[in-house]
Amino acid sequence: MTFIRRTGVALAAGLVAASLATASIAAVAGAQTVPAAQTKPIDRANLDTTCAPCTNFYQFANGGWLKRNPIPPAYSSWGSFNELADRNTENLRLVLEDAAKNRATATNPTMRKLGEFYASCMDSAGIEKAGMTPIEGDLAKIRALGSTAEVKNYLIQQHARGNDVLFGFGSTQDAKNSSEVIGGIGQGGIGLPDRDYYFRTDARSVALRDAYVKHVANDLVLAGEPAAQAASDAQHILALETALAGSQLTRVQLRDPQLTYNRKTPAELRTLAPGIDWTAYFAAQKIPNISAIEVVNPKFVSTVDSLLGAVPVSDWKSYFTWNLVRRAAPRLSSPFVNEAFAFNQHFTGAKEQLPRYKRCIAAADNSMGEALGKAYVDRFFSPQAKARATEMVKNLKAAFRERLATRTWMSDTTRQRAYAKLDAFMQKIGYPDKWRDYSALAVTPSNSYYANATAVTDFDNAYDISHIGKPVDRTQWGMTPPTVNAYYNPLMNEIVFPAGILQPPFFDPNADDAVNYGGMGAVIGHEMTHGFDDQGAQYDAQGNLKTWFTSSDLANFKASTTAYAKQFDTYTILDSLHVNGSLTNGENIADLGGLTIAYAAMEKALAGKPRPKIDGFTPEQRFFLAWAQIWRENMTPEQARLLIATNPHAPAIWRVNAPFSNMPEFAKAWGCRPGDPMERPAGQQAAIW
Ligand SMILES: [Zn+2]
Repeated sequence: MTFIRRTGVALAAGLVAASLATASIAAVAGAQTVPAAQTKPIDRANLDTTCAPCTNFYQFANGGWLKRNPIPPAYSSWGSFNELADRNTENLRLVLEDAAKNRATATNPTMRKLGEFYASCMDSAGIEKAGMTPIEGDLAKIRALGSTAEVKNYLIQQHARGNDVLFGFGSTQDAKNSSEVIGGIGQGGIGLPDRDYYFRTDARSVALRDAYVKHVANDLVLAGEPAAQAASDAQHILALETALAGSQLTRVQLRDPQLTYNRKTPAELRTLAPGIDWTAYFAAQKIPNISAIEVVNPKFVSTVDSLLGAVPVSDWKSYFTWNLVRRAAPRLSSPFVNEAFAFNQHFTGAKEQLPRYKRCIAAADNSMGEALGKAYVDRFFSPQAKARATEMVKNLKAAFRERLATRTWMSDTTRQRAYAKLDAFMQKIGYPDKWRDYSALAVTPSNSYYANATAVTDFDNAYDISHIGKPVDRTQWGMTPPTVNAYYNPLMNEIVFPAGILQPPFFDPNADDAVNYGGMGAVIGHEMTHGFDDQGAQYDAQGNLKTWFTSSDLANFKASTTAYAKQFDTYTILDSLHVNGSLTNGENIADLGGLTIAYAAMEKALAGKPRPKIDGFTPEQRFFLAWAQIWRENMTPEQARLLIATNPHAPAIWRVNAPFSNMPEFAKAWGCRPGDPMERPAGQQAAIW
């Protein structure tokens, strides 16, 4: 259903966790009771004054808070993002409970469907009673497969229903001609969070694979297989997934837009994977005349093709059964939900499941996000907040422009193109101007939750595929309005800030400028800098993958971004796990650039105004405290291990201490001296944008 590659670079993780198997992972965060927002923009009670700011600023700024805020048992982490998302969740609950209560009489058909969807998800009694009934028809289809040809046809039919079995398919902008929407094929097919989990040989990884095989077998038993058969089938599934993983690109390779740009005609796709009937495939997707397909990883597609011909039909049946159960589990009865939760604990470290209503709110946000989002912004987002945020984006843009003029490593030719790219930025703030039309969505009062969720998958798939061959829809959003996150999309050259993040502690109309520039200002600067990070800088003002740097400027740029990646390679968490400087390079460049530009914008905003200390801190000091408090976060070791392997963002402590130790502005504000851990030696400070 989806071709997830360049939908954009987000401010924080969350999408990573959500891509794991089930909704039992806290995609939307929250505590058992809603904590009030902190009353002061910067609260001294959150500090650890026993730690010097020039020694470990993250600890100085957040130590008090970290000590007082252990991770609630249903969560894998707890921090500012969770606190805010949790408040949003409680507001969404009001919207959804009203929609469910009024669904029989609602005159707005979209609100009626939203109410039906939520009510069906909350119907735990009905879901328990149904047990595995909802998937029995699909299981029977898998059991009836008798030949390789039928296996291949099953794959085609699954894709036509939006189920990404073995690989993802969907619409995408052509990276080298961003105004054209074509098809896209991604890599997939594995159940562990990353290809590397299949090949690591350390004791922890071996034990994790054993646990995975047990989990797969447990799911097969739930689907009706005898235990001994399930144990043997699970081994075959691991072998099959290992073969798929072996052909996958690594996450670092996936960050290389040139490597992953492989535009093919349907004829070329037939040559690449001759065993798949692509004519039948595109006919089933209702796009028989498709003209071009971007293939992220051609080797992977040809591996799938040869495995389809070589692996016994019985193994495919086990594999398809496992895929079906894994996908369906969050929508089925407790044995399915509990099994998924138990295995995911290896990655979340969560002690208990989220209450059902929180899982259902997350599901409603994932499934009907713009219907829910519209009701949310109508009730909880003010035009004033949108106006203030728009003003801030304007100020950040002006500061970025001035900063570009001072970059001595680039020639004037490149600088003029950088100005053009900055000027061409599109911005989306709060919510979409044009809301999605849900009239074709088949959510009905008589449907089970499973049937409603399946209707959403069908609807989303048809919507996504319908874009192929049409002009780019520039009004579309990649996040829902209540989301506490933000993103830059290089193919659209756009920065996007959902209503969900335009609140304290990121953005507070009642706070001083310093706090808002250190929070939301730096977030805006972060997204802007993504247009100029090691990936984003490869796209021009129109979002085309095209070099616009002169060759000597490009060499200078690469030298400094590579040096910054090496700096991050030296940072660790949990004593010995190293940050992957290459995987996190784009985000780290964006943090450093975003902070530098937001700081300059704050100085402009404060020029000529009185600069009183507030609670003992200068405006400059409050700027850095504001950024640090956004990243305060306690995290389970399980989640930390998962994220270090899969997340393109560095761990929270390094998103604070690393950029600050490269900023002369920080050393000046806090009186750090050469030799202090928070001040890198003069010749080794990174300054890219
Ligand atoms: Zn980012």
